[in-house]
Amino acid sequence: MNTESLAPRLDVKSFAQSSREISGHDALSNYERLLVETHGMGADRFLNWSAQGEIKTDEAGADQIWLHMQAAVTLHLTCQRCLAPVDSVVSVSRSFRFVASEEDAEQQDDDCEEDVLALTSEFKLSELIEDEILMELPLVPRHDECPSEVIMAAEDANFEVASAEKRNPFAVLAKLQDAKLK
Ligand SMILES: [Zn+2]
Repeated sequence: MNTESLAPRLDVKSFAQSSREISGHDALSNYERLLVETHGMGADRFLNWSAQGEIKTDEAGADQIWLHMQAAVTLHLTCQRCLAPVDSVVSVSRSFRFVASEEDAEQQDDDCEEDVLALTSEFKLSELIEDEILMELPLVPRHDECPSEVIMAAEDANFEVASAEKRNPFAVLAKLQDAKLK
């Protein structure tokens, strides 16, 4: 297994033919579209990923090119209940079958269960990882228990003190004089 600084460009065909496995962890700062989702927060966090190539043989005896990919990251999303940041763990594990052309991919993607992609010379693993993580983001991120409830309780406590002082202005005056004497 290798550790790359960023999930690399891959020649998927030869990657599969050699049954290679690679893995690594990339700073989130390399994933601009994910940083949009976190409003730029957590750029120094890491996204862990791994990928394996495989050649399978179909029923007709022809070789199929497969890429298996796993990725996981903890993203700083915004809680839709209290609007404070919430850590969301997002992980994906997917397999893709690669075919010769974009037309084949489109045609076959509808007909079969697996995801079908076209082989390209410019295949970037990091882009596929980012696409898949984006699709897996929670629709409504939120805390199991919002911390704002604690803040609300603290505000209530202050409110009670304030209203008690309002009821007794002389107490406030006495407090101020005390403060002056000190
Ligand atoms: Zn919340």
